Amino acid sequence: MTVSELDRGAAHPLPRRIAVLSFHTSPLAQPGTGDAGGLNVYVLQTARRLARRGVEVEIFTRATHSSQPPVEEAGDGVLVRNIVAGPFEGLRKEDLPTQLCPFVAGVMRAEAGHAPGHYDLIHSHYWLSGQAGLVASEHWGVPLVHTAHTLAEVKNAVLAAGDTPEPESRRIGEQQIVDAAHRLVVNTVGERDELVRFYDADPADIDVVSPGADLDQYTPGTQRGTERARRALGLAQKSEVIAFVGRIQPLKAPDVIVRALAEIVRTQPHRDVRLLVVGGPSGSGLERPRSLMELADELGVADRVSFLAPRPPSELVDVYRAADIVAVPSYSESFGLVALEAQACGTPVVAAAVGGLPTAVADGRTGLTVDGHDPRRWADVLAGLLDDDELRLSMSRAAPVHASGFSWDSTADGLLESYAGTTAAYRARRAEAAAS
Ligand code: UDP
Repeated sequence: MTVSELDRGAAHPLPRRIAVLSFHTSPLAQPGTGDAGGLNVYVLQTARRLARRGVEVEIFTRATHSSQPPVEEAGDGVLVRNIVAGPFEGLRKEDLPTQLCPFVAGVMRAEAGHAPGHYDLIHSHYWLSGQAGLVASEHWGVPLVHTAHTLAEVKNAVLAAGDTPEPESRRIGEQQIVDAAHRLVVNTVGERDELVRFYDADPADIDVVSPGADLDQYTPGTQRGTERARRALGLAQKSEVIAFVGRIQPLKAPDVIVRALAEIVRTQPHRDVRLLVVGGPSGSGLERPRSLMELADELGVADRVSFLAPRPPSELVDVYRAADIVAVPSYSESFGLVALEAQACGTPVVAAAVGGLPTAVADGRTGLTVDGHDPRRWADVLAGLLDDDELRLSMSRAAPVHASGFSWDSTADGLLESYAGTTAAYRARRAEAAAS
């Protein structure tokens, strides 16, 4: 559906041009390492789909390389503006707030180059962008829609060993955004409840819009394609393969899967079971994946674990197809795009029963959800599913069907609806204020 089609039937005004703020990480960065992950994928995928529906999208991010042009195209109708704010490299995530003022100044300067009223709406992603959005929204007289992606209160409640707690300053910043943004968009009903419980948000101000998977890219492979994928990844056709895909950080719990693998090998040494870990180091504290490699070594399973560098979707698809099971053991997960993508490729997922994962995975039908992070429990569940060919086969058939319910097109439609409602309420409030 396009803006004009929607407009005809819409009771609410639809935006023609929106400013998307993604301060701390660029939608053009390779996801799966550092600060780049699901948020980057979300911003880029929704921007492209909104543009196809007739909305012009300009994404503002912080420049992280001197070679980046000030403006680059990221598809038809999508521009990325690389705002210079602080050093290109070497700025730690904890120091990013010090560069918010230069970033906001850069956003303001870009807007000033247009005719007044250029943007109809701002959508900010992650709390740092939300802070910039508060200023821009007030200055431009347009509504601010905010997506938190993660929340300090929620992360701190489930800290993994070795993880650094989120600072109080972040929680305060998030509270200011919850109090002042015109609409909050969340991935799941559970996330909406967390905003209400921890930040006293008004449920009426929150829209639940599911994220998606790129269903053109992530599809089940043919038998031959899967065999080729295994060969390319150096995996024997007869091996049992578990894959972990994502940023290597304590919150994602890849160590739980390494320990579970060691447990399977300890109890059933004859099994030819292997683990693929795809992703780069991220987050604070531990120097991973080095420490993960050391752990595999210590547990005597190093020869069964392959560490692969982060890769684009066109290559990641082979990892998902080559695996018998994709494991998502995170301590906290706002949704878990990896779980959706794996299922879209026809691979069952074993996921921790946290955050959006019980929504992303249909427990018992397309995968299994696991309570807690006890490696022995994970070993039992993983080995049990590897043993049950019939169940795995039925899950591989059901998984793409389940994943097809989560497309980026539906996400874009949901966002448009949210934007329209937000704009209508915003204008009504302003008209009321002007009249009084
Ligand atoms: N990803 C990727 N290449 C990699 C590893 C991950 O493109 O080598 C992408 C993956 O496809 C997914 C995203 O990174 O879309 C991770 O999103 P998820 O929601 O699973 O985790 P997050 O990073 O948001 O915590």
